[in-house]
Amino acid sequence: MTVDIAIKEVEYNLKLVFLGPPGAGKGTQAAYIAEAGAIPTISTGAMLREAIANKTELGKLADSLISKGELVPDEVIIGVVKDRLKLDDCKNGYILDGFPRTVKQAEALDEMLPDAIDIALSLEVPDEDIIERLTGRRECEKCKATFHIKNNPSTKGDICDKCGGKLIQRADDSAETIKNRMSVYHAQTEPIKDYYKKLGKLVCVDGVGSVEQVRTALFKALGL
Ligand code: ADP
Ligand code: ADP
Ligand code: ZN
Repeated sequence: MTVDIAIKEVEYNLKLVFLGPPGAGKGTQAAYIAEAGAIPTISTGAMLREAIANKTELGKLADSLISKGELVPDEVIIGVVKDRLKLDDCKNGYILDGFPRTVKQAEALDEMLPDAIDIALSLEVPDEDIIERLTGRRECEKCKATFHIKNNPSTKGDICDKCGGKLIQRADDSAETIKNRMSVYHAQTEPIKDYYKKLGKLVCVDGVGSVEQVRTALFKALGL
């Protein structure tokens, strides 16, 4: 006999920004929080890659910038996020992954919505770990789940164990582009930490350790 147990989803009503260098584990950890709290993850990088795949105007603009490791212009991405946050699924909270990426974007977010953000969570990972994480990263072509060839492999090799899709390497995860993404991060994105610190919203979590260890530390820091 099987017994049906209705599991009530806990809705956090949490508005979270993930900060941290490329490859820090933002997408990996955001997926756990989003799943547990039934809130969407808004990844501007994923939205831009989808636009490139669909050859939209936005995609055409973003393509060469992303492959060089440069940012797309603030006003463009601010418009994309503004439209996304208006959708119904954002009403109980959201996780922003990859946005804001400049202080101007952080300011625009605060102008968009009153109390746009409760917590800015910074995943702290030193530069020397980033190259290994990014060069070993693989993404499912179909469901976009993220793996790592050594640290977080799929049980099925280069096939996604969540959906059976093919795992591929992102075009911008090449050694040359990674170098530029790191310097763009330090110059343009890292100052956002100060922005949220001044607002009393910054929480820093050590992003070094296994995926599980970081997940535990994050949930603890968020009081979940
Ligand atoms: P990662 O997960 O490695 O940090 P993302 O998927 O967040 O990378 O972003 C990939 C690329 O998309 C960035 O290098 C940048 O070119 C572009 N991009 C994503 N989000 C933004 C943003 N908020 N502002 C400007 N460019 C962005
Ligand atoms: P971001 O979204 O910050 O760019 P990802 O979540 O895509 O980062 O993670 C980058 C790569 O590092 C992926 O291949 C992922 O599987 C791997 N990774 C994530 N968390 C850890 C961790 N704690 N230790 C080692 N590798 C990790
Ligand atoms: Zn998949």
